[in-house]
Amino acid sequence: MATILAVHAHPDDVEILMGGTLALMAGRGHTIRIVTATAGEGGSAEFDPAETGRIRQAEAAASAARIGADYRCLGFPDLGVFNDDASRRAVTELVRWARPDVVITGSLADYHPDHEAVSLLVRDACFAAPVANYRTGPAAALDAIPALYFTDAIGGRDRDGARLKRDFAVDIGATFATKRAMLAEHRSQQAWVLRQHGIADLGADMEAWSRRVGSDFGVELAEGFRQYRHPPYPKAAALQDLVGEALLANP
Ligand SMILES: [Zn+2]
Repeated sequence: MATILAVHAHPDDVEILMGGTLALMAGRGHTIRIVTATAGEGGSAEFDPAETGRIRQAEAAASAARIGADYRCLGFPDLGVFNDDASRRAVTELVRWARPDVVITGSLADYHPDHEAVSLLVRDACFAAPVANYRTGPAAALDAIPALYFTDAIGGRDRDGARLKRDFAVDIGATFATKRAMLAEHRSQQAWVLRQHGIADLGADMEAWSRRVGSDFGVELAEGFRQYRHPPYPKAAALQDLVGEALLANP
């Protein structure tokens, strides 16, 4: 059985961009660890940062529990994720603690600065994780760099509006109901996304996105991924092999 480490910036990003794929792999008995860089404490006009962070971490934990995953928050400040020395060490320690076969994080290009920063941090932490002389904490260095994947950006485009490349997608038709139930645990976000993004229904917005990715690959519902293969990162198709018949090649 494999261990999959899913890391994104805020509670609900993992669910929107890779929840169906994680549910699929959890259903096959793999170990899933979901991590957010921040508690998303900026995401409320109703509660103060401390209370919002508590609420959102509880929502993320409830979401993870729906697929038997564990949940951790790195405790970086919302809108305060930076690719700096202390943060790289913290994310490397996380990767060493998780001991993953596969790591999935956000897109290097996205609309939110925390999304881009967490993607860079995870990319570079995977590189650093086997470097034993790079000291980060109690967790032992890994034997090798784990297989690394990026999700789509929110909306699938970079900051110039160009569509981002995908290497493949995963058919999430069989696990979409679970994905939807995971996202629905983020109850506090319904009011916030209406105020901040003009999105009236977070679940419907996520479904429309999953259908759009699905239509790109000739199925009903899907999630898109890109593998980071730059040397010395592993080129083996680890995630593709784990999802098996749910794998969708680019048309
Ligand atoms: Zn986010």
